[in-house]
This record gives sequence, C-alpha cells and structure tokens, in this order.
Amino acid sequence: MSNALVSALSQLEEAGAWMGLDENLLRVFREPKRVLTVSIPVRMDDAHVEVFTGFRVHHSLARGPAKGGIRYHPDVNLDEVKALAMWMTWKCALVGIPYGGAKGGVQVAPWKLSDGELERMTRRYASEILPFIGPAMDVPAPDMNTDERVMAWIMDTYSMNQGYSVPGVVTGKPVSIGGSQGRGGATSRGVVYSALSAMRRQQIPVEAATVVIQGFGKVGGFAAQVFHDAGFQVVAVSDYRGGIYNPLGLNPSAIMRHLSDAGTVTGFPGADAITNEELLELECDLLVPAAMEDQITEANADRVRAGLIVEAANGPTEPIADHILADRGISVVPDILANSGGVTVSYFEWVQDIQAYFWSEDQVNARLRRVMDAAFDEVAALAEDKGIRLRLAALALGIGRVAEAHVARGLFP
Ligand code: NAD
Repeated sequence: MSNALVSALSQLEEAGAWMGLDENLLRVFREPKRVLTVSIPVRMDDAHVEVFTGFRVHHSLARGPAKGGIRYHPDVNLDEVKALAMWMTWKCALVGIPYGGAKGGVQVAPWKLSDGELERMTRRYASEILPFIGPAMDVPAPDMNTDERVMAWIMDTYSMNQGYSVPGVVTGKPVSIGGSQGRGGATSRGVVYSALSAMRRQQIPVEAATVVIQGFGKVGGFAAQVFHDAGFQVVAVSDYRGGIYNPLGLNPSAIMRHLSDAGTVTGFPGADAITNEELLELECDLLVPAAMEDQITEANADRVRAGLIVEAANGPTEPIADHILADRGISVVPDILANSGGVTVSYFEWVQDIQAYFWSEDQVNARLRRVMDAAFDEVAALAEDKGIRLRLAALALGIGRVAEAHVARGLFP
C-alpha cells in the first residue's frame, strides 16, 4: 500500500475513534465508491504507439458530484489516487461545498512529451474516463503537472462527444471558455488566508515573518508572491531540482522570471543552493510544503524548526510526524483546510458555468476569503474546545458532515 493511502486510512481511523463513529460508516468510508483504471494508447510523434495507464477514483458522492484534480506524474499509482480522493471528500465537506471526493492520475512524465503528444494523451484519457465524468457526476480540475490547457482539452473532448459545449465538466479552465476569474491563484490565496488566521491565533506578527516554501509550481510559486505582497519575507523556495535560500529575503517575481528562462528555481543569483531536505529543516516562522506527499516524516520531524506549518500540498506530513510536531508544540494547519481555496473557487466556477453568469475577480476573492475564514474559525474553535490538533478537528468536522449525509440518505437498497 502506498504511504499516502496508509496516511489517509490512519487519519480516518484516528478521527473515527475520536468521534465515536459507527463502525458501519467507517467500513463504507475506508473504500472508494468507484475505481476506474484505463489504458491510454497514444501515437507518438515518431509514429510508434505508447500505452500509458490512467486512473479516476470516486471516493464519495454522498454530498454531491465528485470533485478532484488530475495529476500527471510517472509515480502516480492507484493507492495514491485513492488517498487523494478520500482527502477531497473530507475537504469539500469541511468547507461546506456540495461535492464528494474524486481524483485522477496518469502515469506519465509529461515533460518528456511534445505538445501534440500531451494533447493526444489527454484527449484519449478524457475519452476513456468519459462515462465517469460530467457536471452532475464528477468534475475534474488541475493538480500536479496539469494546467488550464489540459482542462481545456478535456472540456473540448467531452463537449465534442455531447455535441454542444459543456463548460461545467471541468474547472480550472481558461476564462475564455467558462473559467472563473481568480481560480488560478485561489489555492495559493487560500493558503495565505489560512496562514494569516493561524498566525493571529498564535499571536505571531506578520511583519517580516519568514516563510519557507517547498515546491514552486502553480500553488507554491503564486503563494510566494502573495506572501511577499502581504509583508512576509520569503527566505527559501525549491522545486524538484533543489532549493535556494537567502536569509535576507528573496524576490518571488524575479524567481518566476528565472524559472521561465532556466526551467528551475535552482541557480537563482544571489541565493545559496540547498537541498529539499535542508529546506524543510530551516529555522523560520512559517513552513509551507507545496510539492507532494510524505515530506515531513518520522525521520525529519524532530529537526523541523518552523514556528508553524501550513500544508499547501496534500498529505505532506505523515501521521507519525504529525504527532511528533504536536508534541514539540509546532502547530500544523492541515491540507484539507489550508489548500481548500482551490476547490472552493472550483465550486464557484462550476456554479458560474451552470448559471452562465460570471462574477468579478473581487467577488470571487471576497467570497473565497469568507469561506476560508469561516472554516478556519470553526476548526480552531473545535480544536481549542476539545484540546485537539487542528488536523483532528478538521477531519472530525469533514467526516462528520459526510456521515450525516450518509445517515440521512440511508443505505441503498
Ligand atoms: P505543480 O505541478 O504546478 O507544482 C509542483 C511543484 O513541486 C513544482 O515546483 C515541482 O518542481 C515541485 N516538486 C515536485 N516534486 C518535488 C519534490 N520531490 N521535492 C520538491 N519539490 C518537488 O503542482 P501544484 O498544482 O502546485 O500542486 C502542488 C501540491 O498542491 C500537490 O500536493 C497538489 O495536490 C496540491 N494542491 C494543488 C491544488 C491546485 O489547485 N493546483 C489544489 C489543492 C492542492
């Protein structure tokens, strides 16, 4: 079993036991509702055919259509996708949006494909999962190594099969075809809103607070900019190649320019080179893992020197590490709360598509902030009232709402 699924299941057990959840419900929640594995034959540019493996998992549809991103990565596996789908179920319920949880992935190194190969692979994957997706059933979105261009191809493939445009089949698509203002930066903004709420709660001053960010992609890269604009000092960032560190602060927009020329943040002038392992152990006010799962583990948790951790990535902290951090007094704003800005604005996008009535960016950002602040306050209040970790409080709230929906609907037949 992959580490991510071990983590997701162990979180479910811990929260279920704490809540006194009915064992029958736990049995249902441990398993995804549906799993689809597809093979994706693609004619490559040199005319040979390559076959990729893809997945789409629905963990729960109890509260509404399933929602979750699509990841392209050579290490994607079914267990990881099942774990990510389960986390989506709790996340949607936690922020109170009417969705279940899903996730998808293709085992592929997209950076090795030409644009044409990537498009053909995406369209064939979309065709293979076509019976599984749709605005009322399952609404995919971007995740690692997928973006608005990939979403546009999926939207077009689905629409070609229907014979008319169906913008609500995916979110995170370009504004020109029904995307929402503010969706691109929503996950990052939500991470910053969560950080601000957590710092207020712990009375950590924002002015010149130091931030370390692992992963400089769609989420981490824009979060660095939003933190910088809010008065934080971004002292270290990284990508899969390694990290850069300057205790006096880095300029995120200059790093962005370097990244677009060099293809990596490494080699950025005026900063020291560090490894991803070293980055996680830097002394800082705020550590933001924004890359992937299993980064803070039993092996390094006792060396983390951050005042506060805000999880932009899904599943970056192993359950054992979570307890080590708690024992050391390091509070963690959990993924299902901290990165829920993305799915929240995805929900706004889907609502706008269905109504064919679009909002301004200010409206989107203001509504996002309301949702995020309310979710944070609710989680923090439960954590304080019961003397539990923010993660346990967030899971209990999310799982509790899904349980309530299951009980209300009853068990078919
Ligand atoms: P992305 O592909 O745009 O960026 C990923 C970044 O992480 C890149 O900078 C990459 O180089 C880096 N990276 C990859 N492997 C790494 C490693 N082993 N060590 C260090 N850095 C590494 O992906 P993204 O959309 O920014 O997603 C990042 C995380 O945020 C994922 O866990 C994803 O599930 C989560 N997330 C994304 C969204 C969203 O809206 N995109 C929403 C919620 C959660």
